[in-house]
Amino acid sequence: MAVKAKAAKPPTPLPVSWGAATPRQVQALYRLLAKHIRPESDLHFSTTFELLVAVVLSAQTTDKAVNQATAPLFKRAPGPAEMLALGEEGLIPYLRHIGLYRAKAKHVIGLCRQLIERHGGSVPDNRAELEALPGVGRKTANVVLNIAFGQPTIAVDTHVHRVANRLGICATTKVEDTENVLLARTPPAHRQQAHHYLLLHGRYTCLARQPRCSGCPLARLCPSCESPA
Ligand code: SF4
Repeated sequence: MAVKAKAAKPPTPLPVSWGAATPRQVQALYRLLAKHIRPESDLHFSTTFELLVAVVLSAQTTDKAVNQATAPLFKRAPGPAEMLALGEEGLIPYLRHIGLYRAKAKHVIGLCRQLIERHGGSVPDNRAELEALPGVGRKTANVVLNIAFGQPTIAVDTHVHRVANRLGICATTKVEDTENVLLARTPPAHRQQAHHYLLLHGRYTCLARQPRCSGCPLARLCPSCESPA
């Protein structure tokens, strides 16, 4: 009697928000990113406090503009007490050339007050307390936790969101979903640097309007490549 072949179990479908790249391809993409990108912030800072302030100021503003503002500002006010003493009106002249400067001045003074009143002048090392500070949202908290406290968080901004989708790591429309997919799909060895890899690749190569595909080291693996070899 013929033995009936056992039907192969269908593969478990991947979550729809995961892009088409296979785990092996994701691994290869990160290997290439690690080879070509030095994972360092473009913001200038020398303390955790300066990092926090610089990241708060960087919303909808270029890092270059933030660095121009913070170079003289951090000399004048290197810590929360000095910044608080400066006050909103004293801070505004330093911030005048960056976007949303009045709101940002208010946030910076508010967060300095809170750092002094609740944290002894130090920047807290946990998400809940960071996100309770004025002007600090999830993305800013992720950047500070990652850079200053060595936590493998992945801050997602417009560059990270765009690049992760173009590379097929994600298939997401919302930034919050992108963070979750990246956390799930990024190999542990690359998680600490993933934010900088994707951010810097988006800022200098995979530009929003005209990605520089012809010189992109990931072109061979990228499903969105516009200049195939
Ligand atoms: S090949 Fe083009 S679309 Fe793909 S990551 Fe590189 S620059 Fe971006």
